[in-house]
Amino acid sequence: MSQKLVVGNWKLNGSLVANETLLRAIVPVDGVEVAVCVPFPYLAQVAAWSRGKTGGKTGGGIALGAQTVSEHGAGAYTGEVGAAMLADFGCRYVIVGHSERRSLFGEDDALVGRKAAAALAAGLTPIVCTGESLGERDGGQAMAVIGRQLGAVLDVMGGEGFRGAVIAYEPVWAIGSGRAASVAEVEEVHGCIRAWCDAQGVAGQGMRILYGGSVKAGNARALFALPGVDGGLVGGASLVAADFMAICRAASGGD
Ligand code: PEP
Repeated sequence: MSQKLVVGNWKLNGSLVANETLLRAIVPVDGVEVAVCVPFPYLAQVAAWSRGKTGGKTGGGIALGAQTVSEHGAGAYTGEVGAAMLADFGCRYVIVGHSERRSLFGEDDALVGRKAAAALAAGLTPIVCTGESLGERDGGQAMAVIGRQLGAVLDVMGGEGFRGAVIAYEPVWAIGSGRAASVAEVEEVHGCIRAWCDAQGVAGQGMRILYGGSVKAGNARALFALPGVDGGLVGGASLVAADFMAICRAASGGD
C-alpha cells in the first residue's frame, strides 16, 4: 500500500493571522503525506512555516501546493503565475482542472492538459481533477466524461508525463455539497479510472488517485480504507484544523 496523500485546498480563504492559527494546528502524521494548496499571496508564509523557520515547534513536514498555474512559462501574461515561480516558493503540488476553474473560469480540457504539462516541466506534481456533474452521472456518462478529461491531459503530457501526475476524482455534485460519493461509488469510479489508464498503456495500479468531495472527519476513514483510494483532496474541512487533522489521522488508519 502506498503512502496516503491528504491535500487541503484552501480555495479563496485565509489571512496572515488566520493562516498562522491554522498552521499551528497542522502537524505531520506518521505514514501520511500532508499538503496544503494555498492562495498565491500566502505561499511564502506557508513555505516558511513548513520549513520550520517561523520558530514554531510544529509546522515542518507539510508539503506546499498552489491551486492553479499558468500554462505559460514567462512573458506578457498579466495576472498569471508560472510553474517555475511556484517551484521557487517550494511548491511540490499544484491543482489543475478543479471543477471551479472549469465552470467559473472557462478552463477547458486542453488547457488543463497544458497546465499539467507546464507544472510537470517545472518539477511540480500536478493534481489533475476530474469528475462528472450530477446530470452526467444520472445520464450514465460519468466515465465518458472522466475519460475525455483525462484523455486531454494524457494527449498533452504523454504516458511518461501522465504517470508523474496525481489524479483527484472529484464528482462535481459532491464538492462543497455535504454529500460525499458513497464508498461503493468511489470504489467503482477509482477502479474504472485505473482500468482506463491500463487501456491507454499507463499502468493504472501505479497511479496515485485521490478522492475529493465533502470528505469530512466522519466519512474519511471508510473512504480511505478502500485499497483503490490513495488519499483525499479536502476543501471546506481543511480550513478547520481539528477536522483536517482528524481526516489526516483517518488516512493513517489511526483514530
Ligand atoms: C474541493 O474543493 O476540492 C473539495 C473537495 O471541496 P469540499 O471538500 O469542500 O467538498
